[in-house]
Amino acid sequence: MAVVGVLALQGSYNEHLAALRRIGVRGVEVRKPEQLLGLDSLIIPGGESTTMAKLANYHNLFPALREFVSGGKPVWGTCAGLIFLANKAVGQKTGGQELVGGLDCTVHRNFFGSQLQSFETELSVPKLAEKEGGNETCRGVFIRAPAILDVGSDVEILADCPVPANRPSITISSGEGDEEEVYSKDRVIVAVRQGNILATAFHPELTSDSRWHRFFLDMDKESHAKAFSALSLSSSS
Ligand code: GLN
Repeated sequence: MAVVGVLALQGSYNEHLAALRRIGVRGVEVRKPEQLLGLDSLIIPGGESTTMAKLANYHNLFPALREFVSGGKPVWGTCAGLIFLANKAVGQKTGGQELVGGLDCTVHRNFFGSQLQSFETELSVPKLAEKEGGNETCRGVFIRAPAILDVGSDVEILADCPVPANRPSITISSGEGDEEEVYSKDRVIVAVRQGNILATAFHPELTSDSRWHRFFLDMDKESHAKAFSALSLSSSS
């Protein structure tokens, strides 16, 4: 049975562990680099990305996390976890923060505003219906949520949503000087996949809908199938 690690430094890791239990999957808490060894996949939960980065640094986790992501095993970042996985994050008040990276996108840390602008909405996610049949809508719980401003060509967009009218206007600044622009599109990307990386700006673990967790576990099965066929090819040559 697949063993799914859940980064348990801060944030909604218990909720992810409970969501995994509901679908009969073993999740294990990860706080130290050596706990990543032997895992089949990893979830990086939502929370507060600056705090999570400080704790990850304290436990010397960044090199091991980067190795895990580049090693090709499935990794899913929700909310702050999405920020962790992005190659570039903007919208920090003070300077930059360390990122794991690997996901070719630019994320705005607090795109939808503060805690007060947290919201829930229906999202249309054709990929969820493609896998399981049934309805393609799912509930998106957005809490001080980030959003994805742009993606590289290898990134598949799974969901976007309208930019809420009450969202405070933001200036996109990387904190690196001149780079300032105002986001003017009326929709914004909130879920993507790039190979072994899945990222959602919202929190499926706070709903009773298990489809996102099953979607992620299917990525795990795909990666096992790939490893198996690579192995049989090399042993037959
Ligand atoms: N915007 C938050 C951050 O910067 C993330 C919020 C969340 O994970 N719910 O970390």
